[in-house]
Amino acid sequence: MTIGGSTIAAELAAIAPWPDRAPPIDAAERHRRLEAARAATERAGAEALLVGAGPSLRYYTGVTWSPTERLVALLLPVNGRPRIVCPMFERGSLEAELAIDADLLLWEEDEDPTALVADTLCPGATLAVDPLLTYGTVRRLGGSLAVIDAAPIIDGARMVKSPAELALIAQAMAMTLTVHAHAARILTPGIRASTVRRFIDDAHRAIGAAGSTFCAVQFGRATAFPHGLPGDQVLEEDQLVLVDTGCLVDGYHSDLTRTYAFGKVGDDIHATWAVEQEAQAAAFAAVRPGEPAESVDAAARAVLVRAGLGPDYRLPGLSHRTGHGIGLAIHEPAYLVRGDRTPLAPGMCFSNEPMIVVPDRYGVRLEDHFHVTDDGAAWFTPPQPSIDRPFG
Ligand code: ZN
Ligand code: ZN
Repeated sequence: MTIGGSTIAAELAAIAPWPDRAPPIDAAERHRRLEAARAATERAGAEALLVGAGPSLRYYTGVTWSPTERLVALLLPVNGRPRIVCPMFERGSLEAELAIDADLLLWEEDEDPTALVADTLCPGATLAVDPLLTYGTVRRLGGSLAVIDAAPIIDGARMVKSPAELALIAQAMAMTLTVHAHAARILTPGIRASTVRRFIDDAHRAIGAAGSTFCAVQFGRATAFPHGLPGDQVLEEDQLVLVDTGCLVDGYHSDLTRTYAFGKVGDDIHATWAVEQEAQAAAFAAVRPGEPAESVDAAARAVLVRAGLGPDYRLPGLSHRTGHGIGLAIHEPAYLVRGDRTPLAPGMCFSNEPMIVVPDRYGVRLEDHFHVTDDGAAWFTPPQPSIDRPFG
């Protein structure tokens, strides 16, 4: 039995820590990232690159730091050693995670860190700045420097994953798929969505992650809302169940949705589920290196239109993009959406989730991720085979 029939205790006890973990990103790979960033910064006509706290800072330096009003950033000159801009009082925390050879540019609470950054460069020099830095920071830098958008430099590198990154993402996805399978078995009439979410968090810990990064558990009518409804829900017999969750492995995200029947659901839901499966498969089959990202969205939408859904973002149909890039951020460029003409390239990773919403009644989302290969795409996780068998 793949849905229901077990208990929380039995399923938690059945989860063992993941056996062969993918190795973390090593020093040689981080060195290659910095050299590639220097070359791209020079090509863009800038003297240095400034990367703010967040996933991009982690990508280049290994430092996990949430952006706040205090500037923490990597300043990478085209020539010269990398510098980390950091409040003086945070030095110890920063150094504990710093995984590259870098100098520190420390600032006291009464100093303006953007002035320190500008002082290290020639007056009027061009600085490529991370678009996720705050407007205030960029405005102050622009007082004495010429600032340009570093998105092409940073996103251009982060979009294409190395074999080591693919292995970490694959492990995170496989761990979450296992957690999903255990979660389906604890379902029973009367169980609360919050109980299932708590189980999934515990299960992610049991399998070797630091819990869930997010978790949506939706029953019945609540499945019609892509990100759920407020309040707790109670599972009833013969309801549709939608679960979307993920975890982190060395900073890399998983993100998987399964939609399945708890008991018997109507023929209309079965029919919609089959269209969703076909749309997800069509999107996957459309992946070709060199083609624009938007072509994958178009392939999924064509299936929906043939089934009388949509068109475009109209409901019943697909009210959002078909998928998002994934890596150190759960949503990152490129996007599988009309207008995103980023050429697909081997190593890019995307979600494939052309959700069908039937307003106020139900929704079906099948979400698996793929990476682009030399001649098409490869799944990280096998797609759901049927509405009654979520895991094959
Ligand atoms: Zn998701
Ligand atoms: Zn997603």
